[in-house]
Amino acid sequence: MMEIETKTIENDLEFLRQISREVDFEKDNYKEVIEKLDYYCKNVGLVMAMAAVQIGIPLRILYLKKTDFSRLDEEYNEGRVLINPKILKQEGLTTYWEACASCLDNFGLVERPYKMEIEYYDENGKRHVETFEGTECTVICHELDHFDGVLHMDKAIKLMQMAAPERKIWRESHPYTIIRKDDPFISEKQKILTKGE
Ligand SMILES: [Zn+2]
Repeated sequence: MMEIETKTIENDLEFLRQISREVDFEKDNYKEVIEKLDYYCKNVGLVMAMAAVQIGIPLRILYLKKTDFSRLDEEYNEGRVLINPKILKQEGLTTYWEACASCLDNFGLVERPYKMEIEYYDENGKRHVETFEGTECTVICHELDHFDGVLHMDKAIKLMQMAAPERKIWRESHPYTIIRKDDPFISEKQKILTKGE
């Protein structure tokens, strides 16, 4: 049984606000970090993905489970890591009511791209370029923000406090929504901010 503490905005806001640094494959003991993330995501929290900073390690390692929102109640304990991920391209616009293991009951409607091309390294240090679409793209964007100290609450176009059981009911009538699948990603929130300048 591994002792893993989740960093939350209640006690560790400063910690969560830091910029995570890239993994140095020569020097960092990143395999141990992957083990911890794997353990956490499979045994501790029912999460779809996790950034290492959320368990106290500010390195750019993203743990990604198989992300299918319709199977959240089932066992789907398969995961992999994206190390030092970078967005090469993002397109489309979607919205989803997001929650976060680090953000208590903060529940926010967040705009994300529909599709993204990401460069990352796997646990053997091999480089990949992969396209992610739909809900998987939403989840990855959320975690990438953690690497830069950004939380879903910062980006939410609507925000409320809601506990997990109520969130589940809310999402039944407010599901993942695709606004458009192509065109460069520009959030409506960003548009409003730009107009106001
Ligand atoms: Zn989060």
